Amino acid sequence: MTAQALDGAAVAQQIKQRVAARVAELAAHGIRPGLAAVIVGSNPASKVYVGSKVKACEELGLHSEKYELPEETTTEELLALVETLNHRDEVDGILVQLPLPTQIAAKRVLEAVDPAKDVDGFHPINIGRLVQGEETLVACTPAGVIELLDYYKIPIAGANVVVVGRSDIVGKPLALLLLHRHATVTICHSRTRELAEVTRRADILIAAIGRTAMITGDFVREGAVVVDVGMNRVTTAEEVNRIFAEDECQKRIGAIERRGFTLVGDVEPRTVVERAAYLTPVPGGVGLLTIAMLMQNTLRAAERRRSRG
Ligand code: NDP
Repeated sequence: MTAQALDGAAVAQQIKQRVAARVAELAAHGIRPGLAAVIVGSNPASKVYVGSKVKACEELGLHSEKYELPEETTTEELLALVETLNHRDEVDGILVQLPLPTQIAAKRVLEAVDPAKDVDGFHPINIGRLVQGEETLVACTPAGVIELLDYYKIPIAGANVVVVGRSDIVGKPLALLLLHRHATVTICHSRTRELAEVTRRADILIAAIGRTAMITGDFVREGAVVVDVGMNRVTTAEEVNRIFAEDECQKRIGAIERRGFTLVGDVEPRTVVERAAYLTPVPGGVGLLTIAMLMQNTLRAAERRRSRG
């Protein structure tokens, strides 16, 4: 068996078109949804993510604002900015890019964001609503995974789904979304015993671990759907040769030569494509959906705030 790729670009494109069409309708009523993105310090990956988010806003006709604060920003200073954004009417969504520098009390900052503008879905009120299965702003990456499965008509109800990873931003919210869609969900983590035995029971296996190519073919049941959320940087040709099938290696090594790294997931493509029915590529899979869902959340936040008057 050779796994079919689940193409994140096609799904992201469809979501973005849907959002752009609605944004155009709102524009006719003088409404322009807006996103404020806040970045503290100079983490290069964070800068790339925030840049992509702002660019997506521009593409889809949303208003966007970018706040770049210095590395030594204090919690109080960041809280003051969040407070200002909470009160600004043209800002519908507030995104504080993680990770924050260590001197900042990240939890206090995330809890200070108005839940109605919490387009990342990290506020405890939105998480509580998610637990209760209420309509709310849901974290973008988990919501994107559901969109991807739906786009490819992969049945969720009744499926045995194994989520490896229990973080607050990916594993846990994704497990809840799947549970609400009537999957039988198992959540695994670093203390799970006999991990491969558990993951081999999955009809749908989701890897959100942050360990390069950890999920090999041995972890996968023949014919399973494998969703790779991981984003890891690989910098050597040796690693590339271990992780990828021969036909992919040259392209990957070329990327390392050009920019110093190639992006690799938590799944090892070389062995997993032989067993899975479907596999999300990295890059080109779940990562593209995260930004599309952020745009959708910003639109939703704008519509909801306005419908509440
Ligand atoms: P975290 O580090 O917060 O969580 C990782 C999880 O994996 C933890 O629950 C941890 O278990 C578990 N884990 C670690 N090692 C093992 C192991 N050996 N066996 C089993 N479980 C293990 O990561 P995130 O959830 O934030 O991110 C996960 C991955 O997804 C990363 O690669 C990240 O870059 C990527 N990501 C991608 C996004 C996208 O847009 N595509 C967005 C967000 C993240 P424990 O709890 O016991 O420590």
